[in-house]
Amino acid sequence: MRARCPDAGGITFAGLGTGQTCDGCDEPILPEEMDYTVEAPDRRNFRFHVRCVLLWQMYGPQRGR
Ligand SMILES: [Zn+2]
Repeated sequence: MRARCPDAGGITFAGLGTGQTCDGCDEPILPEEMDYTVEAPDRRNFRFHVRCVLLWQMYGPQRGR
């Protein structure tokens, strides 16, 4: 199934963190936290904490950092 979301892409993976850096807050996603991978409309992938993926979906990927 490839449902389309018009604004901010969709979560493509959710699992435990692997210590990689969150694209929302630049802090590592620890193994005891949830790691959300999101595919943007331009096919790039972003990795977030759960709290950060919610912000990203509100503001969209084009804000950058
Ligand atoms: Zn984060």
